[in-house]
Amino acid sequence: RLELRDISKSFGALEVLAGISLHVAAGEFVSILGPSGAGKSTLFQLLTGALKGEGDMRFDGAPLDDHGRHFAFMPQRDALMPWRRVIDNVTLGLEVQGMPRRAAREQVAPLFAEFGLAGFERAWPAELSGGMRQRAALLRTVVQQRDMLLLDEPFGALDALTRAAMQRWLEGTWQRHRWTALLITHDVREAVYLSDRIYLLSSRPARIVSEIAVPLPRPRTTGSDAARQAAV
Ligand code: ATP
Ligand code: MG
Repeated sequence: RLELRDISKSFGALEVLAGISLHVAAGEFVSILGPSGAGKSTLFQLLTGALKGEGDMRFDGAPLDDHGRHFAFMPQRDALMPWRRVIDNVTLGLEVQGMPRRAAREQVAPLFAEFGLAGFERAWPAELSGGMRQRAALLRTVVQQRDMLLLDEPFGALDALTRAAMQRWLEGTWQRHRWTALLITHDVREAVYLSDRIYLLSSRPARIVSEIAVPLPRPRTTGSDAARQAAV
């Protein structure tokens, strides 16, 4: 379980985060919904350790120091490296963890079909549609098998139709895998559709103005139930 208490961050005189407290339990899909420029990506940079801020960050009760161990991060933009083939983009996170490229390729190959990328393993990122590029970036993120996914506006750059299709696809895929996820978005429908809970942020400096549990049409389980289902 991730627990943030009173997280603040300023860039010089610019106050961006003003005391953010939130938590994410194992098996939960939580969204942070907030306006553009509020400080959402900055919060993720604190989580990944790219930036330092004030406040208390804990994972399963322990202070968060080894950030990479817990999080698989999908950045808001430039997720794929244009000079690496799709499969070599997907294996990147595993290679960074020290897995040889050949073993990494074997591990990720079976997932290409589920992510709608079958036959595009050897393609270049520029040869994919926008939706496929985002699915490839998401695939790279989930294969890292960290405790939690950090997804920064994964569908932000897509047209409305592709975006809706991706949301539906992610919902189905998530129901099968039950990843623990923290999603950043400024799309209210997306947050409501995908999340168990939503934190609503004010505009900059970001504060949490509301916490909303989403009443879901489908039954959802958490924690150990999720782990059991993931094993099926
Ligand atoms: P969007 O929805 O448009 O992605 P966001 O909520 O992710 O916005 P951030 O990218 O976190 O917003 O930026 C919040 C504020 O912090 C902005 O005013 C931005 O200019 C500022 N900012 C972000 N990173 C830095 C930095 N490294 N140095 C100085 N200012 C920064
Ligand atoms: Mg952002």
